[in-house]
Amino acid sequence: MKVLVINCGSSSLKYQLIDMNNEESLAQGLVERIGINGSILTQKVEGKDKYEVQTTLKDHQDAIELVLKSLVDEKHGVIKSMDEISAVGHRVVHGGEKYASSVVLDETVIKNLDEFTKLAPLHNPPNIIGINACKALMPKTPMVAVFDTAFHQTMPEKAYMYPLPYELYKEDHIRRYGFHGTSHKYVAGEIAKWMNKDVKELKTITCHIGNGVSVTAVEGGRSVDTTMGFTPLDGIIMGSRSGSIDPAIVTYLIKEKGYSIDEINDILNKKSGILGISGIGTDFRDIRSAVENENDSRALLAMDIFGYQIRKQIGAYAAVMGGVDAIVFTAGIGEHAPEIRSRALVNMEFLGIEVDLEKNESHNIGDGMEISKETSKVKVVVIPTNEELMIAKETLELVQK
Ligand code: ADP
Repeated sequence: MKVLVINCGSSSLKYQLIDMNNEESLAQGLVERIGINGSILTQKVEGKDKYEVQTTLKDHQDAIELVLKSLVDEKHGVIKSMDEISAVGHRVVHGGEKYASSVVLDETVIKNLDEFTKLAPLHNPPNIIGINACKALMPKTPMVAVFDTAFHQTMPEKAYMYPLPYELYKEDHIRRYGFHGTSHKYVAGEIAKWMNKDVKELKTITCHIGNGVSVTAVEGGRSVDTTMGFTPLDGIIMGSRSGSIDPAIVTYLIKEKGYSIDEINDILNKKSGILGISGIGTDFRDIRSAVENENDSRALLAMDIFGYQIRKQIGAYAAVMGGVDAIVFTAGIGEHAPEIRSRALVNMEFLGIEVDLEKNESHNIGDGMEISKETSKVKVVVIPTNEELMIAKETLELVQK
């Protein structure tokens, strides 16, 4: 059985076709500049040349049509006909409080998704457009929505409530939702396999550190707390997002500097984080290069803040769960930045964490790389995330029911 995984952004679309018999990815692709002049599709297939199509795509339906065409392309494709696609799994950012797990997309569900647009105005609309476009082109193929927020719906009230007037929760649904759920769930499952344990027996801290950053406390396979909140702006420092700050800074900026709502949004989402601190950029490799080659003190500070905040979170979540058995690092920076991992982990022996600094420096992570010492009570492992595979697995599970 082959499952197509679709992740629609406002002007881009990522896709992957996965053979669920062996969980192998058959093709991965990206469509960019949808609805903008000069759209481009890039598709990679193991053992074939990279396939590129430059064309005009007026909307997501055009884009999905091109994706399907590329997948069945005689020379560059991987399947003979669209009928080989048994199901489609869609990544949907926000499932509100309604969806604590993935769901088969029928008319009612699609209508419900609109409800959460207010909560994720940048992300949910393109997700919904992608779903509708796919429905139009493949009306008979079953489709499933897999939500970024779903895994975190198990958080207890004390973790998800903000201490604001209660009506803001009741009337406006303002609470912590948490994001990156698919990734946290995936790596929490993978580390359990790594340790030959049932995920139900483990207290795990999962650190998803990419452009967006979130850390989650996973107890017995359930998310019990996470750093992203009402939106993906909350929590740890990110590429260009501030993470948590004193909320009074916002009112100060409005009152004293006369900033508008849009300007504040721009500062917090696009001009802060490691970009804001370093003044260099959002890409961690540029920060590293400035530290290594230019001894740049602000780049070093950005790195220090990054490591420090993750360290603080590990301490906090160990306290939340009354201990920790395993820590996972994943996503672009988590997988490839030993300097962040070491800042987060050294001198944590009091918690049972003994990091092997030599192993930590290795870049050969393969399917997983253990960076704790053999004597360490807490296993620390770098595991590549695979949100697409997780989406495909949940899709298959639901359509087979
Ligand atoms: P996204 O959240 O967009 O999926 P990724 O998980 O791809 O993000 O992570 C992107 C981040 O990973 C960027 O900051 C990038 O600099 C960083 N990154 C990727 N490769 C490396 C590397 N080899 N060394 C250090 N950082 C890396």
